Order: sequence, then structure tokens, then C-alpha cells
Amino acid sequence: MMLEFRWPLLGVIIPVFIIGFTAYGSHYFILRHHLSTTQQVIYECFVSMIWVSYILAIYTSPGQPPKEYTPKTGEWKRYCTKCQNYKPPRTHHCSKCNVCVMEMDHHCPWTLNCVGANNLPHFMRFLFWVIVGTTYLFVQLCKRIVGYYNDSDKPIYLIQKSELIAVVVFTPIDLLVLLSISLLFIRCLINIGKGMTQIEIWEWDRIDSQFYSKRLWKSIRLNYKQLYGKQLPELSTWTNKTPIDEDGFPLEELERDEEGEESADSQQGIAQEGASQQSDTDQDFNGDEGEDDKIVPENFTIDDLIFPYDYGIWGNLKHFLGSPFMWLVPWGKSRNNNGFTIEPSLDYKEDDQLGLPWPPDGGNQNISIPTPSDDELRSIGNYSELKRQLDPRYNAKRSSWHNDMGESLHDYGVYIDDSDDDKL
Ligand SMILES: [Zn+2]
Ligand SMILES: [Zn+2]
Repeated sequence: MMLEFRWPLLGVIIPVFIIGFTAYGSHYFILRHHLSTTQQVIYECFVSMIWVSYILAIYTSPGQPPKEYTPKTGEWKRYCTKCQNYKPPRTHHCSKCNVCVMEMDHHCPWTLNCVGANNLPHFMRFLFWVIVGTTYLFVQLCKRIVGYYNDSDKPIYLIQKSELIAVVVFTPIDLLVLLSISLLFIRCLINIGKGMTQIEIWEWDRIDSQFYSKRLWKSIRLNYKQLYGKQLPELSTWTNKTPIDEDGFPLEELERDEEGEESADSQQGIAQEGASQQSDTDQDFNGDEGEDDKIVPENFTIDDLIFPYDYGIWGNLKHFLGSPFMWLVPWGKSRNNNGFTIEPSLDYKEDDQLGLPWPPDGGNQNISIPTPSDDELRSIGNYSELKRQLDPRYNAKRSSWHNDMGESLHDYGVYIDDSDDDKL
């Protein structure tokens, strides 16, 4: 769950206090007695880099779209009712900053600012320098602890008490900061490697969890028809040519042997089941002419879905963090600091199957899907499929979906207005 302070200013006061107290307290009480002048200067350089990148992450605008932005062909026409402006792809309106933020990653309570296209490099540098500083300090604290252990046979009055207390106080604080920031840093790096912001990771998880739901495909089909003026063609997998079950056996053989009973576990099975079950309740939600034979494609998996802005790990790193030579300098910028002219990846442009902007069910969220009746649920032989169908998130709207950690779009600071994502 994202953190929200009752007094937002605390989000900055707490880190400022922890950084100042730990960095200078440990220098004064411990490090100056044991480090050479050069080592102390190096340590203070690390501390200064933490301050500089933190201040830049707070004060640098995350990047707002230009007022005159108009969506290009093939983009969602997403209109922000708050800013009265069209939103470029990957842009969201932040309810805390009350502006639209390009490539919005999340609203950060610790910087009182959004992390977006413009200031993500500052944010990442801040995390990086905190890890460097706390690691350096941790090594020095460990040396002191080993020193005390070796001196344990000496009389107590030979040990400087203020230093001993400082070691006891700063070691747990330093370790806690080091571990928590490292986890956050790794999480952000993984996201960047995938080419996605935290919000887009959330969106991917949502689509993954709803991948065989009628809501998702009904919405995708309507979007496709609106964008291309024709029905969605039959989709076929290009990643999982031969669907396999959890134990690695080809699914089709199992199906033949056991008439599909045991194999419903796999994605293929689920897709088929979704489709056959759909035909029973066809007329209930059959809104569009002639498209409803099979709403959920039978042979298409989440791995076949192409995220439009994945340029490969190296390309993604450069996209978000800029040139590698500038990664560590305080003025280094992302490659995309005018985040509204983002070119989709080559893979996406060459995709001749779905070819819908992100998220593929971005429009037409107001679709009502009837809850399956008890009989329908009873007819589902497979436990994991039944569990999936009974999850209230399975057919939930984007605005009410939450991930396994309980995070909804609101927790990232995104202002949710159904109408703004409802047009093509
Ligand atoms: Zn806005
Ligand atoms: Zn914000």
C-alpha cells in the first residue's frame, strides 16, 4: 500500500532528519576518529550527492504535457477534465499535484512530487547515492563493532562511551535505510528494464489477471472496431505454439487422452472454457452485431500481448535514464524529456494482430458482464478456473481493480475519471 501522511510535509521532514542525523552524527561521533582526511572527504561527497539528488527530485517538474497537445492517429483520445487538455500516451493526472504528468511513475510522498519523465533520473540517483552512502557507513560501523569485540578484554574506561552509543544507535538505522532503499531501487530498476512505469506494471498485472475475462475482450473488440472499422481478426499465439501444461507436457495430447478434463488448468484450457461458457449466456451481453461467437480468443496468451514502449533492456534504460555517461551526474536527463513524442517500439509497429494503444482496453470500460449463475459455476470443473471466476476483481473495471498488494490506481496518485479513458 502506498503511504499517505496526514501532514504531507512530514514526508520530507522525516527523510531530511534521518539523512542529516545519521550522516553527520556518525561522522562527528565515529568516523572522524578513524578515517583519513581523504576518506572523510569521500564520505561527505556521498552525503552531498544524496542531498543534491534529493533536492532535484523534489523541485524538478516531473514533466507536463504541452497545452496544445492533440492525439495522433492510433492513440487514445484521452481528455483530462481537470487540465482541460488532451493527455499524451503514458500520461496521467495526479490528484495530489493536480497536474497531468507525462510518463507518470507514481506520486512520491517522500518528495512531495510526482516521479515522471523529467525527474525519474534524479529519483533513481537519489536512491543510488543513499545506497552508496549507507553501504560505506555500514562497513565503517561493522569495523567498529569488530574492534569492540577484539577489545572486549580491555577495561571499560578505555572505551569512548559517546562513540559506543553512536554505534549502537546508527547501526540499526543505517541498515534499515540500506535494506529498504535497496529493495525500492531494485524494484524500480526491474520496472525500467521492462520499459514500464510503476503504473504500467500495475496495468499489466491487471490485464494479466483479467486476461480470459469477457469484460476485457468485449472492451478490446469494441476498441478494435472503433479504431480499424472492422471486427477483430482471429488472434493466434506466436510465443506458445504448443501450449503445455504445468508439468511441461504438450496440452493437446492430454486433451485428446482425457477429453480436456484434466487440462483445463492451462491457459489454453481456460480460454476454451471461457469461450464455451460464453456461448451459453451469449444473448445477455451480445451487444455488437455478429461478433460474439467467441469473445475470448482461444489461442492467444498474455505473452502475445505487446507493450508498445518496450525497446529491450538497454533501450529502456536509455529511454528512462538517458545516456549511460550521464547516469551519475546531477544534471543527467532522460532521453525522453519531452515525453509527448514517444515513438512506439518496432515490435509494436510490426504487430499485425492486435495493434491497440496501451492499455488495449483503454476505452469502453462501461461494460456490464452478468455474474455467472450457480449452475454455470458448478459446470466449471477446474478449481483454479473457478477461483478465478469467483474473484471479484476478475470482471472489475479498471478504476476499481487492485493488485495483490491491494494497490489501486488511486494509491499511485492517479486521478480516476472514467470518462477520460473512455474515448478512442
Ligand atoms: Zn490533468
Ligand atoms: Zn503527484
